[in-house]
Amino acid sequence: MKNLRDIELKFVKGIGPARAKLLDEELGLSTVHDLLRHFPSHYLDRSNVYRIRDFAGEMPAVQLRGQFVTFNVIGESAKARLVGLFTDGTSNIEIVWFKRIKQLRDLYKTRVDYIVFGKPQEFNGRWSLVHPEVDPVNSSQAQAEFRGVYPLTEKLRNRGVTSRNIFQWAQNALSAYGDSIPEMLPPEILARYHFMGAREAVTTVHHPTDAEKLRRARERLKFEELFYLQLNIRRYASNRPGALPGISFPRIGRFFNSFYNEALPFPLTEAQKRVLREIRADLGSGRQMNRLLQGDVGSGKTIVALMTMLIAIDNGTQACIMAPTEILATQHYESMRSMAAPLGVNVRLLTGSTGRKERETIARELADGSLHILVGTHAVIEDNVSFKNLGLAVIDEQHRFGVVQRARLWGKNAAAPPHILVMTATPIPRTLAMTVYGDLDVSVIDELPPGRKPVSTLLRYDDQRQSVYRSIGRQLAAGHQVYIVYPLITESEKLDLRSLEEGYELIRGTFPSYRVTYVHGRMKPAEKDHQMKLFAENKAQILVSTTVIEVGVNVPNASTMVIENAERFGLSQLHQLRGRVGRGAAQSYCVLMSKRRIGADTRKRLELMTRTTDGFEIAEADLRARGPGDLEGTMQSGIPIDLRIANLATDGQLVQLARDCAEQLLDADPALAAHPVLAAELRRLYPRPADLSRIS
Ligand code: ADP
Ligand code: MG
Repeated sequence: MKNLRDIELKFVKGIGPARAKLLDEELGLSTVHDLLRHFPSHYLDRSNVYRIRDFAGEMPAVQLRGQFVTFNVIGESAKARLVGLFTDGTSNIEIVWFKRIKQLRDLYKTRVDYIVFGKPQEFNGRWSLVHPEVDPVNSSQAQAEFRGVYPLTEKLRNRGVTSRNIFQWAQNALSAYGDSIPEMLPPEILARYHFMGAREAVTTVHHPTDAEKLRRARERLKFEELFYLQLNIRRYASNRPGALPGISFPRIGRFFNSFYNEALPFPLTEAQKRVLREIRADLGSGRQMNRLLQGDVGSGKTIVALMTMLIAIDNGTQACIMAPTEILATQHYESMRSMAAPLGVNVRLLTGSTGRKERETIARELADGSLHILVGTHAVIEDNVSFKNLGLAVIDEQHRFGVVQRARLWGKNAAAPPHILVMTATPIPRTLAMTVYGDLDVSVIDELPPGRKPVSTLLRYDDQRQSVYRSIGRQLAAGHQVYIVYPLITESEKLDLRSLEEGYELIRGTFPSYRVTYVHGRMKPAEKDHQMKLFAENKAQILVSTTVIEVGVNVPNASTMVIENAERFGLSQLHQLRGRVGRGAAQSYCVLMSKRRIGADTRKRLELMTRTTDGFEIAEADLRARGPGDLEGTMQSGIPIDLRIANLATDGQLVQLARDCAEQLLDADPALAAHPVLAAELRRLYPRPADLSRIS
């Protein structure tokens, strides 16, 4: 058998050196193995032809059959586009090209039957298709019952490489080298789950003959991908401190009990109690805790963190809690101190702006053990901060902390790594959590404290601005505060900054009797903190800002948030922002401002926000729409997730199966001694970066 990884693409019939180079640069395909693992992203089913008349709502990519009526070039030079009016006898649609206008104008004819494939978009009641695939009806491509559509890049398309080329090259490679496709799954797993063999699966995905066979081929290849990913994650996990002994906290003592019995400001929710039980079990187990606590904004994670820290103190150790910004750290400090100081717990704050004298006090008290809880920013993990006996570290709003920071915390106690509790308000769908946080145990607070009124979310268009301002006026008159948020996206940063500044002036002009403050990410931290503080203390009633307020700020008196250009935000980000309101007793509002002309996808996304406040539902939708690569927190594990065929959003059952199989296999054969194929493939797929080798 040949090793397909050793055969360069230029040797495949039809490719040659120049195209091989292009495929390498654009798609990272350099060998026959790579080409055969470049799978179609979807398939055309010739039996399924849509009628234009039936288009409605959100449309998937569809196939149409019909003729071009006219072609027109619209616009000048760089902005020119080619527009073909296409009819299928039921209605018509505009087909638009921005590239290769001249070639395509010469290529396509009117009054010839074509099969067209693409995703219809609606704009002002008109449907159009942009850069679809177009084939004459009598071509062999259009006749194949299933046709794979391969992912391409803009540059490949511009160089005339089509999905059909890739198909043909894959066929050529299969007939020359198909016999050498190796089996990558252990025989016992193949047999137990009746998975299709590797050779048949690869052949089938490139050239399927029937739907059921295609389904089985894809299932097998997806499983294989997820299985290797899980094997790798479990391998990291078995190395993590959590698998090692940790400090045991057997005692629930004076601090915890007197807080619970006398100082607790409200009854805990059932979800908070359950999570505390899970944490207590971890802390008493003698193994190091590495737990992720997920809970929607406002679900009450802080008090759970505090009570966990009290357990640590009861057992004679110190605790710290870190937040990503100075403001947040300060808020935590104030609430922790007001709750814990009356019990005799010593709490201090360490941030970038802590003065020299206070730093000295902190250093001394950390060293002699009299400082119980240190609250702070990244400053807490700096090398010059050393504890006498750090037993627990809490990390709030984890998506600003990477694995490397977590690792530094482990080093803060030489005797045994401290327990770690990571808290996040960015809900992560279960399948993704299983993958990304394969190394963490997960607890969820899935219940809001009683009496909370869900934020009422409205979608409003730019031409309704005056009525939005009137509503803001009413909220201000009732004594509430208001956030106004602008996007800040790096590519057009200057422009965005200008719209923020204009927005600020406009708001000042509209509400002259209130104080307006503003913050953005390019301000100096001290200036930013100063402005935020004005708002937090109600010295300013309106805060105009970019997304810098996204994380954790708590101003219960703020009842309204207006998000400008909401169409430019991702769902999870909108959800995160919206969590800044609805923290007080009053009914609160989130107004999503958008321009009126938005695509159907975008409108659907914004409407989802108006319908639900369930962070998990929103995260699932976001995962589906954008893929895991864009989700904040995805890279937390330090493990690259490069899936070519499996989809974390939709293949949940296979993720679970792959995880179970990987766990069983590693339990039975931790060193993979009996599975040399797996061991070699894992080393190749996931070479372990040296500096991450200690990290979960
Ligand atoms: P988050 O999970 O977003 O960090 P917080 O811990 O800041 O949420 O809690 C939000 C608010 O809810 C705080 O004002 C807190 O005091 C309050 N809270 C937390 N738990 C409860 C509860 N069980 N009952 C009533 N109010 C609660
Ligand atoms: Mg919080």
